[in-house]
Amino acid sequence: MKRITVIGTGYVGLVSGAGISDFGHQVVCADIDAEKIEQLQKGAIPIYEPGLEELVKRNVASQRLSFTVDVNQAVRDAEVIFIAVGTPQGDNGEADISAVEAVARTIGENLNSYKIICTKSTVPIGTGEKICKIINTAISAGGTFDYVSNPEFLREGSAVKDFLWPDRVVIGAASDKAFDILRDVYRPLYVNETPMLHTNVATAEMIKYAANAFLALKISYINEVANLCEKVGADVHQVSKAMGQDGRISPKFLHPGPGYGGSCFPKDTHAIAELARKKGAPMNTIDAAINTNIKQKKRMAEKLKDLLGGNFSGKMVGILGLAFKPNTDDVRESSSITMIQSIMDGGGKVQAYDPIANETMKEYFPDLSYCNSWAEACDAADAVVIMTDWNEFRGMDLPYLKSIMKAPVILDTRNILSIDQLSENGFQFDNVGRKTIL
Ligand code: NAD
Repeated sequence: MKRITVIGTGYVGLVSGAGISDFGHQVVCADIDAEKIEQLQKGAIPIYEPGLEELVKRNVASQRLSFTVDVNQAVRDAEVIFIAVGTPQGDNGEADISAVEAVARTIGENLNSYKIICTKSTVPIGTGEKICKIINTAISAGGTFDYVSNPEFLREGSAVKDFLWPDRVVIGAASDKAFDILRDVYRPLYVNETPMLHTNVATAEMIKYAANAFLALKISYINEVANLCEKVGADVHQVSKAMGQDGRISPKFLHPGPGYGGSCFPKDTHAIAELARKKGAPMNTIDAAINTNIKQKKRMAEKLKDLLGGNFSGKMVGILGLAFKPNTDDVRESSSITMIQSIMDGGGKVQAYDPIANETMKEYFPDLSYCNSWAEACDAADAVVIMTDWNEFRGMDLPYLKSIMKAPVILDTRNILSIDQLSENGFQFDNVGRKTIL
């Protein structure tokens, strides 16, 4: 059992902290957001993530997991410290690592013994060196440390499962001692034969960016294939299915849609592209994936406009789904933001519904009309747009939907509705890369 502190209690920090305490360690999750910590201390979970509440409650009850705003004390008490603060996109496209740097200073100022300092946040290649320098400059209490990069690959919506049963654990550590300590932290995974890759720090940092950028690239690729399918009368579902059956390609991340969003792909693709430019090794493929994604989001708004006869003015649109994907309340960089903004800029109105992300979207659009059900959002609408593939939208009763709408017009950006049923029920519809009725 190790004493572990996780600094930053967001999607990654909270899931990692709860997961590591479940491995049997004593974990303190620290954050400067006092409101968030107070909520957690009262037993409320600030984010929606399947299985997280049970995991947190179980480990709090076993007294292995606790929460604090006292980051200084949490650093002093720990043997292993995970940095899991945000690294949003900065103004110039590069990752903004100011929160990571602030945490590094706090760690240096409170380093009172030998500790492992381990970064889980996604940080540009070379940040590990910077963190070590900051800590070394700030050390006053005589402690020492080894540095480790341990990028996190969990996906929102299945974060608990991904953390407890990962495909692999990447540990970028300069010393064998640090690697062994980290492997001990992940001992239950190690004994289950989860692959543990020991690399140097820069390689571990690179693996995270290379993996995320590749997945984003795959999405942009299939979106472009879908767009071409529309022009040539091909069906992208059959194309992507057959492509995915090729073992060299795999079916994952080959679903066409309204463009990727979320807190990772958009910022991580920009960060690696900027870094590559700076280092004189530009990544044209990633630049293309970014541009394609921006266009795809705008293209969805154009499709809707076409369905509505060429303009949004005075039109009421029901938006189904706000989260950037199902099973999360995260709306960061969600395609629905571009869609809603385009409708409003064009003089249209929006009735929006998401099973759990209405609250988080209020930060972006406080004055939108938020609904409590899909039926409410579709009521008297001139058109309905499916933006997130929540299961409840798959099973919508189409005759009933038609009866409550002003006009039976649907844009299905996730391709989850049956084209045959839409046709049978007299809907005018469009989708991404399949047969449409305009
Ligand atoms: P988040 O915004 O949900 O959480 C970050 C937390 O850090 C916040 O609670 C914030 O209050 C806290 N914080 C900021 N400055 C702090 C400081 N100085 N001291 C203590 N706490 C501080 O972010 P997230 O989505 O959990 O992402 C964290 C990192 O993990 C990012 O680098 C991200 O790229 C990476 N990552 C995210 C995911 C994901 O799916 N969200 C997956 C893999 C990796």
